[in-house]
Amino acid sequence: MYYIGIDVGGMTIKAGIVDENGKLYIKDAVPTLPERHYSEIVRDMAELCKSIAAKQGIDITEIAGVGMGIPGTINSKAGVITYSNNINFEKVPIVKEFGKYIKCPVYINNDANAAALGEAKFGSGKGSRDVVFVTLGTGVGTGIITEGILLEGKMGAGAEGGHIALKMGGELCSCGKRGCWEAYASATAIIRQTRKAMELHPESLMNAEAEKEGKVSGRTAFNAAKKGDVAAKKVVDNYIKYVAEGIISMVNLFRPDYVLIGGGISNEGDWLMQKIQRRVNRYSFGGHRNPKVYVRKAVLGNDAGIYGAAALAMKK
Ligand SMILES: [Zn+2]
Repeated sequence: MYYIGIDVGGMTIKAGIVDENGKLYIKDAVPTLPERHYSEIVRDMAELCKSIAAKQGIDITEIAGVGMGIPGTINSKAGVITYSNNINFEKVPIVKEFGKYIKCPVYINNDANAAALGEAKFGSGKGSRDVVFVTLGTGVGTGIITEGILLEGKMGAGAEGGHIALKMGGELCSCGKRGCWEAYASATAIIRQTRKAMELHPESLMNAEAEKEGKVSGRTAFNAAKKGDVAAKKVVDNYIKYVAEGIISMVNLFRPDYVLIGGGISNEGDWLMQKIQRRVNRYSFGGHRNPKVYVRKAVLGNDAGIYGAAALAMKK
């Protein structure tokens, strides 16, 4: 059977046709242009679906279901986007609106939740019923599947692991509270930590790296650390501890089989996963007496949003 997954982002809307074996047949994208009224954006989404189906030679009535992964608080049961800051949506009845164009079952969920489902069904957590997905990007997003159930909380407003407390009264978070995990472990946070270290250590290679890139990025400290820069190594070591600290809390709460890490920072790859793995082994509750939790890089990459959204439609 064919399913369509739609990955709704602030810049682009991507859609792809996927089957239940995880084969991605075709994908395409259109600009979101988020300043428009939602009815226009939803119309574009429906047209994108019709266009990829037509290009693939599939009649739109053959699509068994459509899933959408959307950033923000998503009321999946009501089919309503409660609030999405990236696309300026507030109380948008997106399932009903989309139904004006395409008649098939439509499922929506938060993008990190959808990505967790996609990874559990087709990616690094394939076959597992207990997966915690963590995305280290502009923010820290989490998706939690426990005993096969995607945790959403009331009206989809839960499972926000990025905002668990790491340090009371600490750094200011995007949510308005201080000391959240996100304020220490996001790409935004490592950029801030890198800038601070660059000021303190003008001799550090981080300055040259940033100049080469044209900006301070999430990679700057990692690149300089690999060349042996002491100040950069300290930034990276601290950052890894911050990431691991939050993951250990997630492990203690949910004890999954896998913690899967996605987002730009995860491109650092295996050595980063191994460092986090060692801290998780050492510090999670019960130590070696409790079931081992494997820390892995999420593998679906750029198409994770499409796979995850399609998986939303398949789970019913
Ligand atoms: Zn927060």
